[in-house]
Amino acid sequence: MASKGTIKNTLKLDLDQRQVWSFFCPLCAVSRRITGSAQPGQPMHYVQVGLCALMFTLATFKWFQFKGMVSFLPMWIVFEVAYRTRVRARVRCPDCGFDPVLCLSDVDRARKEVEDHWKRKFAEKGIPFPDQNPVKKQADQQDRPTPPNQP
Ligand SMILES: [Zn+2]
Repeated sequence: MASKGTIKNTLKLDLDQRQVWSFFCPLCAVSRRITGSAQPGQPMHYVQVGLCALMFTLATFKWFQFKGMVSFLPMWIVFEVAYRTRVRARVRCPDCGFDPVLCLSDVDRARKEVEDHWKRKFAEKGIPFPDQNPVKKQADQQDRPTPPNQP
């Protein structure tokens, strides 16, 4: 029977073996920690998809015989798309809505996503969202030339 300390050590060892990303959100500076690899391709992934392809082959053996093992390729494509989608969803900051992947491809859309996130947060709290960024508004007013004094 495993003692409590053994289970704790095993869990710690398991966490140490996994790849851990530890970083700060570039927008709100919150500490983030994500476990797992960004790309599929661990030996366990090949075993899982291979077993699925084997089951498909056995289930459809009557029609496809051993050619059913070709199903490994479309199953791997579906698996990889689902895996990468899940990783991408985890990378997005839950506090400020910053999406680094979207920021790399389309900065304007990433800004819009962050603004939408804050609009949703303000709406949840029942606070009206400011029409314009107060800092930007102040800077705009300072840039304007002062009107001449009229007699
Ligand atoms: Zn953030």
